[in-house]
Amino acid sequence: MNKLDTALVGSSLIQAGFALTDNVRQADVVLINTCSVREHAEQRVISHLGHLKHIKESRPDLIVGVIGCMAQRLGDKLLEHQAVNIVCGPAQILQIADLIKEAIEKNKKNLAITKQIRKPAPQHDSDALEEFESAYGVEDKDIPGQAFVRIMRGCDKFCTYCIVPYVRGPEVSRPPQAIIDQIRRLADNGIKQVTLLGQAVNSYEYKSGERTWSLADILAKAAEIQGIEWIKFVTNYPSGKYFDDILQVMAETHKVCPYLHIPAQSGSDKILQAMNRRYTAQWYLDLLAKARDIVPDIAIAGDFIVGFPGESDDEFQATVELVKKAQCRNCFVFKYSPRPGTTADKRFQDTVPADVKQTRNVELLAVQEKISEQLNREFIGKELKVLVEGPSKKPHLNAAESDDNPQLVARTATDHIVVFNAPIALAGKFAEVKITKTTPLTLFAELTTS
Ligand code: SAH
Ligand code: SF4
Repeated sequence: MNKLDTALVGSSLIQAGFALTDNVRQADVVLINTCSVREHAEQRVISHLGHLKHIKESRPDLIVGVIGCMAQRLGDKLLEHQAVNIVCGPAQILQIADLIKEAIEKNKKNLAITKQIRKPAPQHDSDALEEFESAYGVEDKDIPGQAFVRIMRGCDKFCTYCIVPYVRGPEVSRPPQAIIDQIRRLADNGIKQVTLLGQAVNSYEYKSGERTWSLADILAKAAEIQGIEWIKFVTNYPSGKYFDDILQVMAETHKVCPYLHIPAQSGSDKILQAMNRRYTAQWYLDLLAKARDIVPDIAIAGDFIVGFPGESDDEFQATVELVKKAQCRNCFVFKYSPRPGTTADKRFQDTVPADVKQTRNVELLAVQEKISEQLNREFIGKELKVLVEGPSKKPHLNAAESDDNPQLVARTATDHIVVFNAPIALAGKFAEVKITKTTPLTLFAELTTS
């Protein structure tokens, strides 16, 4: 979501006559797009601001803007920081060019956030955001041939640990026609893979006259668009609503990738309840079984939080059991981080000590690593179609052979990372590869077509 927001801001600034640079020292304006999901992410922003304050001592004209969830969460408080000129929430990014111009011309601090974040936005504001989103829906700057398309904003799930509903506002599904038109335009511009985005993307629902559109309908329509070859969607909330329809489209439409990111968060029913996740561990496993039944080659990924308030050793072991049974292709594991204003923070003490969180994090990752290792080993010798992203940022094991045959990174339809040596011209294109070696996180391959 943040990558998409960054791309939208970048392209709107180019449109307004700015030029982009990755080099902070060359920049007249520095924007930091922020995440509030865990405290650590926010601390890193504060530390960046510390550096910028330093730079501003010798370059007082430098404009610094903080955009995104942390801007929305902290508002005025962030504006008080010596380094900061602009604080701009996620729903205000369409104003960014004007905010910068004002900061330059009038040399004044500027705050643009939503005052009552849980109230539905006034119609003209959401129309303007919609127009901005459609106009600047662009290709991922770093990954040719791919683009993100937001299909819904906000979240109404209110998992007790989570800040998102308080910084991204209420759940709003975008009109199907706007989404489809945007994907068509992206396809016309050479995009081959779109990733549909939402906090609980399978909750997508849009009523238009007699008809109610679900994610399954969007997927089916998007698959009809010529030029689009792969469609992915993240992130899913474990819920039965529309689930069968979505999987059915996945099974029947080869363009819809057999990849499902569906976080469980915990394997303990007591903790799940305290998290306000509305399912049990067994229900989650049944859901995965159904997904595998409908789409046999599906790859499933999950998220887990360790050290939620009150999580006992036994409750953590229930999570370990769930991870073992779920047999996901990978899992992201997070240490519980209390977020101010959330129900968990108001209602519970952060009782699990940091070292216990750390131990549980390491243990859970080790369990998952074994599973990923076993699952990945089954790929050895297989031929797969991959979409090439670009050169490998940190070449793995069998590193670059030569300048014209560097190590490239690609992804499979199941979102597995594949690396292989091939000409850079393949970036943004599909290729056929044969898997030769695997690790828990990476498939190593050789090119079988060129
Ligand atoms: N809407 C998505 C993503 C939410 S944030 C979803 O529901 O899946 C991404 C992940 O961060 C979550 O899945 C959760 O595992 C983790 N997370 C959210 N809040 C957290 C917190 N306060 N502490 C630790 N991890 C958290
Ligand atoms: Fe946060 Fe839950 Fe919404 Fe995901 S579904 S964004 S974890 S409140």
